[in-house]
Amino acid sequence: GWMKVFRTEAARDAAYKDAEKLSSTFGVNHQKLSSSELKVMEPSIRADLTGGLRWTDPWSIRDPHSLNKAYLAYFQSLGGRLVSGDAATLEHILEGPGWRVATPEGPLEAKEVVVALGPWADTVTKKLGYRFPLAVKRGYHMHYGMAEGAQLNNWVLDAEKGYFLAPMLRGIRLTTGAEFANRDAPKTPVQLTRAERVAREFFPLAERRDEEPWMGARPCTPDMMPIIGKAPRHEGLWFAFGHAHHGMTLGPVTGRALAEKMTGEKTVIDIKPFRPDRFLA
Ligand SMILES: Cc1cc2nc3c(=O)[nH]c(=O)nc-3n(C[C@H](O)[C@H](O)[C@H](O)COP(=O)(O)OP(=O)(O)OC[C@H]3O[C@@H](n4cnc5c(N)ncnc54)[C@H](O)[C@@H]3O)c2cc1C
Repeated sequence: GWMKVFRTEAARDAAYKDAEKLSSTFGVNHQKLSSSELKVMEPSIRADLTGGLRWTDPWSIRDPHSLNKAYLAYFQSLGGRLVSGDAATLEHILEGPGWRVATPEGPLEAKEVVVALGPWADTVTKKLGYRFPLAVKRGYHMHYGMAEGAQLNNWVLDAEKGYFLAPMLRGIRLTTGAEFANRDAPKTPVQLTRAERVAREFFPLAERRDEEPWMGARPCTPDMMPIIGKAPRHEGLWFAFGHAHHGMTLGPVTGRALAEKMTGEKTVIDIKPFRPDRFLA
């Protein structure tokens, strides 16, 4: 389960009202938990809480790397092949099939390429003359052990303090809010230090398990929607990036819809709203 917990009645009641609306509009289910029900469900949380809001439909991933490896194994079982190379070497070639990229196994040529480089999309798009307004919202996390006998049964957002605790395979993951900074600027994990102080009073976190905080970058467009579709000025070039906060969830849908588009099938969703030229003059 995925839940928000509240310290004040005002925040709790506002969230409950929102949840009612979301449930009736989109049919997603939730559970309202009183403070005593919360104590039963999460006995190790020691903050004074007024209640919780638990979304009962979402799935959570305890080990994202394993999920990606499983996707890769599935792709390979269907006959796919993984070759790693530097996307910056991508060239549009006039002779041959159309596109070439350098790899340790030698140059790889193809008629069609998909740019799915997330926050690094400009590595390819800039050189080809496409200027997208793509910026990043960065975020940090750290894994912790927990005191002996402690447990965390849900993914828990301490809503009024702005951090999240997730029971991952590697330990309890503490995540921060978003940071507005340049993609390549040095890490500044100040939020993590501050959130850790609050989180240690909230839950019996033990030792830090990572050498340094992990940092990631969410690729965001001005309308917070991804860029999916054919490049307007090149044959055989396709874009699929800019999934902002939701690429883990949406990536597979984008992959399917784009594959369908490229092979001339009916797409599972209409991808026109995500067309690249909405940002190109
Ligand atoms: C802190 C944080 C929390 C998030 N939480 C969620 C969440 O709860 N739910 C959710 O759905 N999404 C979440 N996301 C978003 C999600 O992680 C991204 O949207 C998603 O990873 C985008 O997938 P992608 O394949 O498009 O890009 P990426 O996963 O960023 O992949 C791009 C790849 O390109 C590679 N690359 C870069 N340069 C080159 C080059 N020159 N040559 C070759 N390869 C290159 C990179 O190494 C990388 O592997 C979160 C992101 C962050 C940062």
